[in-house]
Amino acid sequence: MKVTFLGTGTSQGVPVIACGCEVCTSADERDKRLRSSIMISAPAGNIVIDTTPDFRYQMLREKVGHLEAVLITHSHKDHIAGMDDIRAFNYFQKSAINIYATEFSQGVIKREFAYAFADFKYPGIPEINLKTIADEPFDVNGLMVTPIHVMHHKMPVIGFRVHDFTYITDANYIAPEEKEKIRGSKILVLNALRKEKHISHFNLEEAIALGKELEVPQVYLTHISHQLGLHEEVSKELPAGTALAYDGLSLEI
Ligand SMILES: [Zn+2]
Ligand SMILES: [Zn+2]
Repeated sequence: MKVTFLGTGTSQGVPVIACGCEVCTSADERDKRLRSSIMISAPAGNIVIDTTPDFRYQMLREKVGHLEAVLITHSHKDHIAGMDDIRAFNYFQKSAINIYATEFSQGVIKREFAYAFADFKYPGIPEINLKTIADEPFDVNGLMVTPIHVMHHKMPVIGFRVHDFTYITDANYIAPEEKEKIRGSKILVLNALRKEKHISHFNLEEAIALGKELEVPQVYLTHISHQLGLHEEVSKELPAGTALAYDGLSLEI
């Protein structure tokens, strides 16, 4: 099974060239980050976590020819805004796409993409088949996925564990019983927005400390703001077993 980082960036302090900072003007490709998302390529098919505003370009860049399912971490715009573009896969696959989300996230998706849920459906709209994520592990085409409930300030967010791989974005608190669901992972992806503290995201220090506490041998950091600094420089400061993810990075899991 393979995991590909489709994006490792954030809308928080969106990098814009006018910013002029060393990250926004860096020539290093690893400093150019689309919004955070990953794709798991498994015998169960291609499973994308979050449809970001960059989803269409992410699918083109990675030459993704088919899409079997989407898992949604939470309903913030930078994680769902690209959902309309699943219609290209609907068209070629001639079927709806299963989108797994909590009941709360489903409510937002139905509001944001109301036309896809209308009684009269205009031809060519995205065909979404909503599936509910609750507390229990769930089966996506034969792949067992364990949901992990984390907190993004006051907003519940879902992290996902597949075998020994765990992906958690947009969190700054994880309850002890949910941490137990992460324990034993060989690879853990965590959000690390910047060095300064933030109200709803782990900062670099907090993410490193959590990886250590859970004794995960390899931690990758994602949802990185330009405020964190240059990939090259920050990488030198990280302890062994912790690395910054970057767009296009792929891992065997
Ligand atoms: Zn968020
Ligand atoms: Zn986010």
